[in-house]
Amino acid sequence: MRLNFKMKKMKVMLLKEVKNLSIWEDPLVLEEIPIPIPKEREILVKVSTCAVCRTDLDIIEGRLPPTKLPLILGHQIVGRVVERGRGANEFQIGDRVGIAWINYACGICKFCRSGFENLCDNFKATGKDVNGGYAEYITILEDFAYKIPTHYSDEEASPFLCAGSIGYRSIKLANIKNGDNVGLSGFGASGHLVLKMVRYLYPDSKIFVFARSEKERELAEELGAHWTGDFEDLPPEKLNVIIDTTPVWKTIVSILKNLEKGGRLVINAIRKEEHDKAFLTNLNYERDLWLEKEIKSVANVTRKDVEEFLSITEKITLKPVIEIYKLEEANKALRDLKEGKIRGAKVLKIS
Ligand SMILES: [Zn+2]
Ligand SMILES: [Zn+2]
Repeated sequence: MRLNFKMKKMKVMLLKEVKNLSIWEDPLVLEEIPIPIPKEREILVKVSTCAVCRTDLDIIEGRLPPTKLPLILGHQIVGRVVERGRGANEFQIGDRVGIAWINYACGICKFCRSGFENLCDNFKATGKDVNGGYAEYITILEDFAYKIPTHYSDEEASPFLCAGSIGYRSIKLANIKNGDNVGLSGFGASGHLVLKMVRYLYPDSKIFVFARSEKERELAEELGAHWTGDFEDLPPEKLNVIIDTTPVWKTIVSILKNLEKGGRLVINAIRKEEHDKAFLTNLNYERDLWLEKEIKSVANVTRKDVEEFLSITEKITLKPVIEIYKLEEANKALRDLKEGKIRGAKVLKIS
């Protein structure tokens, strides 16, 4: 039986103003608002889980300002289709779907037409430009929802929609050849998915993991890293590629010297934090960049990235390490993330 959602309300965690996430003030407020009505070609999804991302902190604290307020954050969503708008027929009621950071791309600008819809002039991001998944329900154009591989639970699949997919895009941009030495700078939610993917895609490559915390280094070794160390430590070999998932500058300045001639550093971060920008003055052109070394950033994801990544998760077991919070505990999850209490991904269990 189809339920009528029109008069009903849903619980959401709402961001009303951009502010620093301090210990004494919660940035998100629990409220009840009407359940959105799916427009043409949209589906209404009952959210089961939504993973928490470092980008959510960037939005809350204004490094990546939201385009609307109040705003519902969250862009790593798994849920089930409960209603379909006019013309939406790709999914059935009850289907499990995922929603990622890419909420909309126009399909007609020069970037969309050349396979770079992640750089679309009219790109819209879930949980930044439009409401996201820190809520009981969400609407999305059906073309921007994905089928989730069956052998993962909702909780396990949630971090695939950002940490995993953007991690996959950074691997693609790194242009790795099997056998290359691959460095990973930082080892949070994205880092450990990247490690598993690199091992699968490039079985002869050695992986070198730089992480501050001993716990993270232990996890990296358990997962098959060839070498682990702190950011200032020197690995025994030069690295052809380094993928950076840290939020700061200091790490980059410390590890660039490990790059092999012609090597590439890929920075997988939407914004770097401002507080340690001064470290950039330690960058040494001759040591860190000369000899055709490159630095490249990753921006957003394409639907193809998400789809390709999800299909990889069907071939290898990528059970992410996760920590569960209730929707009402979103502030706590964000604070734990900011304070670096990480062993894997933080996921809100909503229904
Ligand atoms: Zn994210
Ligand atoms: Zn476009």
